Amino acid sequence: MTAKKETHQFKTEVQQLMHLIVNSLYSNKEIFLRELVSNASDAIDKLRFKAQTHPELLGNDSEFFIRIQADKENNRLHVFDNGIGMTYDEVMENIGTIAKSGTMAFLETLRQSKQENLLSTELIGQFGVGFYSAFIVAKKVTVLTRSAESEKGVRWESMGDGSYTIEETDRKDRGTEIILDLKEKEDETDFTEEWTLRRIIKHHSDFVGYPIKMNVEKTVPIPDNELIKDKDGKPVGETTRKIREDEILNSMKAIWTKNKSEVTQEEYEEFYKHISHDWNMPLEKLHLKFEGVTEYHALLYIPSKAPLDLFHQNRKNGMQLYCKRVFIMDDCKELMPEYLGFIQGVVDAPDLNLNVSREILQQDRLVKNIQKNLVKKVFELLSSMDKEKYEIFYNEFGQSLKAGIPTHFDQKDKIADLIRYKTTKSDGKLISLKEYVSRMKSDQKDIYYITGDNLVSLMNSPHLEALKDKDYEVLLMTDPVDEWVVQSLPEYDKKAFKSAEKGDLDLIKVDDKKKEEYQSLFEFIQKSLEENVKEVKPSSRLKNSLSCLSGEDFGMSAYMEKIMKATGQSVTKQKRVLELNMAHPVLEKIKAIYETDTKNPSLTGYFSLLYDLALVGEGGKIENPSRFSQVVSDLMSKAI
Ligand code: ADP
Repeated sequence: MTAKKETHQFKTEVQQLMHLIVNSLYSNKEIFLRELVSNASDAIDKLRFKAQTHPELLGNDSEFFIRIQADKENNRLHVFDNGIGMTYDEVMENIGTIAKSGTMAFLETLRQSKQENLLSTELIGQFGVGFYSAFIVAKKVTVLTRSAESEKGVRWESMGDGSYTIEETDRKDRGTEIILDLKEKEDETDFTEEWTLRRIIKHHSDFVGYPIKMNVEKTVPIPDNELIKDKDGKPVGETTRKIREDEILNSMKAIWTKNKSEVTQEEYEEFYKHISHDWNMPLEKLHLKFEGVTEYHALLYIPSKAPLDLFHQNRKNGMQLYCKRVFIMDDCKELMPEYLGFIQGVVDAPDLNLNVSREILQQDRLVKNIQKNLVKKVFELLSSMDKEKYEIFYNEFGQSLKAGIPTHFDQKDKIADLIRYKTTKSDGKLISLKEYVSRMKSDQKDIYYITGDNLVSLMNSPHLEALKDKDYEVLLMTDPVDEWVVQSLPEYDKKAFKSAEKGDLDLIKVDDKKKEEYQSLFEFIQKSLEENVKEVKPSSRLKNSLSCLSGEDFGMSAYMEKIMKATGQSVTKQKRVLELNMAHPVLEKIKAIYETDTKNPSLTGYFSLLYDLALVGEGGKIENPSRFSQVVSDLMSKAI
């Protein structure tokens, strides 16, 4: 702690962020007020929650409010709250750095794509712009604050130019006051104009749970008994006078506790923006009232775009918990499983104890029950969406949804109904497993799939030759999570999932006599390729290609191995089976050389080529590219 005024530099990323916010939100300036009011409301929520167990924190200041005050003369705007406030250390920590993972991820994406100029409000709208948005309209921002847990106040000040000052003060009022010294007006909007402020609050912050007050001048009639009257009883002089009084600008409607018919579309949308900090319209909403032994309300939204930090480890869950309209906590993972963590919403459960802690929540039967019901409703909503809308949803959140199959085994069949894949026959469109099964050939027993990161190489993979020949459809799985999905989903509609690249496909009848003829050569090849190949055998899946590699039924696929390596996990090298197409003329020629002279120096080169071609065919990486090009160019010079 220090008493003297200090000057600090903003972290580089804060400067970048401020620059971005100020420049890209220029045409949407007024949102700064929503952000400040939202922070004020959060600060009151926090105090109110803490005061449940520490009522002394409230002192004699227990009527919560947010106040906006315009000072026309000085072109200044004040936003007060009597919430929890901040200590010196908290100011240092919260303002001047970026703590949120989503914001950092956002900046990182921008840096990588170097698309600063293309930055649209849509992109930036995917994360909360928060406090820094004050600099869109202010040339100087001052924060005066005193924490409910501290005797000392703090004054923070910045011109948004890369540095700020911070010092201790003797502030009496608990809570925070933000003072904006407004920039000179560049257009019509005057943020010291009462009606402007009234309009903005009504538009963006109407349902904030605490009164947003503004002291306004009003003209009111003078009461009859105070009027000066002549002898006939007629008033002489003024009949009205100007007074100042507090006006409450927001209606504080907790829309989730109302009936659907009482809430307008606009209110739903504004509320969504309020809780999600997302500026895009939500894709869908679910407004639910559960009645029965216990009663509770829920208002859920499915965003139309996935946030950039969707798969970040520290990402907050989008659910907030209320009890009788009192905020209890956000990031309420107990209300929505992780794979639906993209859903934003509130649940108001009057039967919960206000002092409920996270530890208790995890055990609470009511909460478990709420989660179960919400998930059920979300599934119902998703399955009732029309195809077009569902595709929008699936492209944004399909990966997250699928992740629920391995992690929430009890829901796997429900989720399986909702997953979609492109296939070898779907023309680039997504189809459901149900559709797949309904299109299966009459002699087809299993559901075939293939995994990999590249759709084009999957489509053309030699592993699919026999399947294509049979006219069987194959699911093309290109998400890393698909590997875990198929492992946890052994069957759908009593049909087993079968990898096109693992085990025996039994689609091509192998000629036993021919197999015997090749036996010795295959063993010889295996010895030569021993380091990489477990076995060499006649293929049951190749039609045109010469060779391919296949795994064991329960072994790791090539794609899985690649994913594991990419995520830095150690994987023991998986030797696979080299399958050769006995109907291919090349094989016959190799056999002829082998039978006349097993020491022919070309043979090892050809063998390595059989292996390398199998790798190339599945979109894999050749281990020794220079040997590969050597062998191929030798062959070319002989052939041309
Ligand atoms: P966010 O609100 O999304 O976390 P902000 O940049 O708006 O991000 O604010 C950063 C942090 O500063 C908040 O998380 C909060 O801890 C603190 N803060 C901001 N405004 C207030 C306020 N009015 N009262 C108390 N703390 C505040």
